[in-house]
Parts: sequence; structure tokens; C-alpha cells
Amino acid sequence: MIHRLDPLQDLVLKASLRARGHSLERRRHRDVNRSAAVWTSEVRIGSSIGTAISIVLATRGCSHALGISGGCTMCSYLLDGTNERVSSENIIRQFESAITQFEHVAVPVSVKMYTSGSFLDPAEVPVDARHAILNYLSKDERIREVVLESRPQYVTTESLGEISELLSGKTVEIGMGLESGSDIIRALCVNKGFSTEDFQRAVTIAREHDVGTRAYILVKPPFLTERDALIDSLNAAVTAASMGVTTLSVNPVNIQRATLVEKMWQNGEYRPPWLWTVVEMLILARARISTDVRIVCDPVAAGKPRGTHNCGVCDGTVTAAIRKFSLDQDVTSLVSLTCDCKSIWRHVLRCQDVSLSASSHNMHVHNPFLT
Ligand code: SF4
Ligand SMILES: [Zn+2]
Repeated sequence: MIHRLDPLQDLVLKASLRARGHSLERRRHRDVNRSAAVWTSEVRIGSSIGTAISIVLATRGCSHALGISGGCTMCSYLLDGTNERVSSENIIRQFESAITQFEHVAVPVSVKMYTSGSFLDPAEVPVDARHAILNYLSKDERIREVVLESRPQYVTTESLGEISELLSGKTVEIGMGLESGSDIIRALCVNKGFSTEDFQRAVTIAREHDVGTRAYILVKPPFLTERDALIDSLNAAVTAASMGVTTLSVNPVNIQRATLVEKMWQNGEYRPPWLWTVVEMLILARARISTDVRIVCDPVAAGKPRGTHNCGVCDGTVTAAIRKFSLDQDVTSLVSLTCDCKSIWRHVLRCQDVSLSASSHNMHVHNPFLT
């Protein structure tokens, strides 16, 4: 199967590289002693509502995106990294100056450690800096939950051994982008560069160390119709849950700069998913997956042309209902949503592939559902 996919895979890889273009040269100068971003939000931690402190460390960027693969088709995180050399001391200073801003937030606290790639990749966060950050987190009793992001290949017995030892007593999750349950869609539509088997291996290692896992599920990678995107994301959620992940984070595609998705969107060949697709996916996933697995969704740029959107009238209400569901896991507020545009969305689900095959070149002209 892999051999038959090779030529297509090669095309996607080259298109991703072309879309990346001069991103590396366009990265702005950064103070390497300050994190790239830090913010707080409300979050459910166990049975309480507390504060999530999200910290994005400025690193050299994702190794997958920096390499010859060109990175994932929808991700511009490479632009958030820096071309300056970032030492362990710099990373530790970034972390400390970020976390100390939030000494008086409501408890319990969840800390989400992001980079523009993988926190567990030693090329981004050197092992001694990682150790110092984990050590700091272990000593702060307000912190009940820690979420770290990584590609599966950096989830090893060594890195997980360190995490489980230092953070014992806290809930820990490693967030990984499964994106799709299908190896073919993950390879050809996302250019992700790892298999379902790789993901499963990482989940197993995490479980062996009593560490939870959070699967990121992409809604509507490029080249899928709205209906296929709904089916694919639901399938991914069910697959991830059956592998033993503890949380599903549902991420509708948003249009990021210098990506293949942005090129397609500019050419009228891609529309971000309807909010209705996200709502339907969440309702179906919640019905099919054990309530032991939390399902969350905080859509980026919701209601805007570059984000998941509906008609413009109902976007705010639908997004608020999605955020409420993420906190209480109750689908009632999702099921009761309604708007005139829902019937157009249903029509898209039924007919979009027919419209696309009828006029693929001019589909943005003839197909109102792509705007
Ligand atoms: S989605 Fe993750 S793995 Fe893919 S390019 Fe972005 S940071 Fe790297
Ligand atoms: Zn509407």
C-alpha cells in the first residue's frame, strides 16, 4: 500500500514545501528569554472548574516542519519559532517569566506547555531544560494537571520515566496530533509523517507510565468533502478512544499563513468546516465514546472566514455552545441549536462531492458552499 501511495505522497510533500516557501527567512527576531505567548482560560480539571495557564515556548520550531517533508498541510507554527540559537538557560528563563505572572489565579491550575512543535523533542527543548521545567511544576501544589505536546516519536521510556517520576500525584497528559484515524488521509491530506501504529506505541508507553494522552483530531483536512470530513473525524475519535487515550481535542482546520491549506483557500479550493459539522461530530462522538474519555473543542477563529464558520448569524451562539459542551460534556445545548443555514449545510453533506466532480476547476464560482 505504501508503495502505491509514494507518488501521491511525493506530490503532497512538494506542495507543502512550496507553500512553506520562505517561512524560515520570514521568522521575526525574538527575545529568546521571553516565551512566544502566554494566556489563561477557564478549564475543567477533574470535577472542578479552574484555570489553564498556556505557555508557548519560543524554540527553533518543529523538526518535522524544518525538515525536508515541509511539515503538515495546515500548520504554520514554523513561523512562530526563532532563527536565533535558544539555549537551555533561555528556555528556562522563558518558562519562569511566564509562569510567575500567574501567582494569583483561581485554583486548581492546569499548565499547558506548548512549543511550536514538540516539548519532548530534545532538539527543541534540551533535556536539562525539560528537567528543570518539570521539576518546577512538580513543586507547585496549585498545579493539578500538566499537558505537554509532542509528536509520538519523542514519547520514549526515558522521557516518560522522567515525567511520571517528577509529576507523580498530578494528572499528566501528552497531547499528540493523531488528526485522522486513516493512515492514508493522515499521509496524503495532512502530510503528518507517522502512522496509527506509531501513535498507538506512544499511547502504550504513556499508559505503562500512568500518564494520560490527549489525541488531537483534525476536522476537515484538505481534499475531503464536508461529509467525508465528518466521517473521518468521527472515525479518528473512535479509533483514538479505542487505543486508550484519556482526552480527545477536536480541532477544526483554520487557515494559517504559508500553508498548503492557505494556498487552496486562496484559490477557492478549500472552505474551513462548517460549525454544524463540528457540532454533529461532537454529538456523535459523545454518544459513541465512553464518558471516561473527555471530549473538548476550542475552535480557533470560529465565525471568521479563516476559521470554522456557518452563516454569520448563528456563529457566536454555536461556538458558545461548543465551548460550554467542552466544560460540562453535556450535549443538550448542542442538540437544541438551530438556524436557517442548517438546511444548506445538510445539502452540502448530501451533494458536495457531486458538485465538485461536475466542475472541479470552477467549483468556487459555481458552488456557493465553498465561500
Ligand atoms: S502540526 Fe505539529 S507536527 Fe505538524 S508541522 Fe505543526 S507542529 Fe509540526
Ligand atoms: Zn446560521
